[in-house]
Amino acid sequence: MTEMLAPAGTIPGLVEKTPLERYVAPAKPSLVGMSRAALAEALASIGVPEAQRKMRVQQLWHWLYVRGATAFDDMTSVSKDLRHAFDARFTMERPQVSAEQISVDGTRKWLLQLPGDAAGGRPHEVECVYIPEADRGTLCVSSQVGCTLACSFCHTGTQRLVRNLTAGEIVGQVMIARDRLGEWLGRERARGEGLPTAGERLVSNVVMMGMGEPLYNFEAVRDALAVVADGDGLSISKRRITLSTSGVVPQIARAGSEIGCMLAISLHAVHDELRNELVPLNRKYPIAALLEACRNYPGLSNARRITFEYVMLKGVNDSLADAKALVRLLGGIPAKINLIPFNPWPGTRYECSDWDQIEKFSEVVFNAGYASPVRTPRGRDILAACGQLKSATEKLSARERLALRAMAMTD
Ligand code: SAH
Ligand code: SF4
Repeated sequence: MTEMLAPAGTIPGLVEKTPLERYVAPAKPSLVGMSRAALAEALASIGVPEAQRKMRVQQLWHWLYVRGATAFDDMTSVSKDLRHAFDARFTMERPQVSAEQISVDGTRKWLLQLPGDAAGGRPHEVECVYIPEADRGTLCVSSQVGCTLACSFCHTGTQRLVRNLTAGEIVGQVMIARDRLGEWLGRERARGEGLPTAGERLVSNVVMMGMGEPLYNFEAVRDALAVVADGDGLSISKRRITLSTSGVVPQIARAGSEIGCMLAISLHAVHDELRNELVPLNRKYPIAALLEACRNYPGLSNARRITFEYVMLKGVNDSLADAKALVRLLGGIPAKINLIPFNPWPGTRYECSDWDQIEKFSEVVFNAGYASPVRTPRGRDILAACGQLKSATEKLSARERLALRAMAMTD
């Protein structure tokens, strides 16, 4: 299949890529990421009688999502015969971790390999990043290999959209973080520099801010987050899951009703002219329509605010007039504002705003009643870059760590 762009003449300047590949399930699929209903079907397919299925689904759920089992043989509460029957048809695999990188401040990046196309094509790589703080640990999760869209400041946007991740590959990222941190019942928890000490959880929060536009992979993201939030399993509540979108307006209400997690909007500009350039999807869904969808987001209240992300681009969107316009624009919407220092990449035409400009901008935002978004003193020394996760395993730069930290959305 060749990559196709939006048909010429639809909306000038807007590129919406279609996937190069379709996921082809392996002959022995993984149970990771299946809903309870799908697990029950899987059980039916290997002849488990209907009367037993509910109980067996519960057992599988527990071994997968509370104990983190990786092989059916680990499931000591299940008979050997049944374990063999599972093993003949299914696996408990998550994506392969091909590299792990641990920064001095405790930030961890995992490079994950996902299977290529059916013809045995090259495997694909996505990254997943863990950002620990004293009282929480935030996992930044990817939803696509590449991205449907092409925001001009985003490295992922320059890449092709290879394919959507499956629900299992999305849930698998949370499982991998727990595997690597030993955060399963009966396992020894990781200790070390920077890991949370105050909270009970090592992975307490999930942000859909890695590669890809989650609302262009709606069903898989919805199904995965239902598994991640399930109180008998991974149990990360929807209040602690944030989905970031560049503004796929028609899917926002649906995200509220069918997913029900917290919402973050990649705003980045206060005028349509500039936003059209930075986030070309704005040509289809301009700022007014986007903010209208935000105002109507189900469950919105002062206790459940929408986060507006704003990447700081030197001389582009970082004037104090922009800051004032930003707070005016968001007036009346229960909102948080997250200023993200731009993380440059080779070939980009943008630069990150100077620090004193970010501080001045942040002061305007703070004086308008929003929590000071660029936090100190810890925020200074660390920053990193979801949204431009890349496969190189070099050390995170100070700016990358700071960008990541901003995106960890510390209140
Ligand atoms: N596609 C979704 C989620 C992934 S991007 C979205 O656009 O919201 C997560 C965040 O990182 C977005 O706010 C995105 O605009 C931002 N981002 C992308 N590239 C960046 C860069 N080079 N520096 C800083 N932030 C960036
Ligand atoms: Fe895709 Fe988000 Fe990057 Fe835009 S900012 S290209 S929507 S990943």
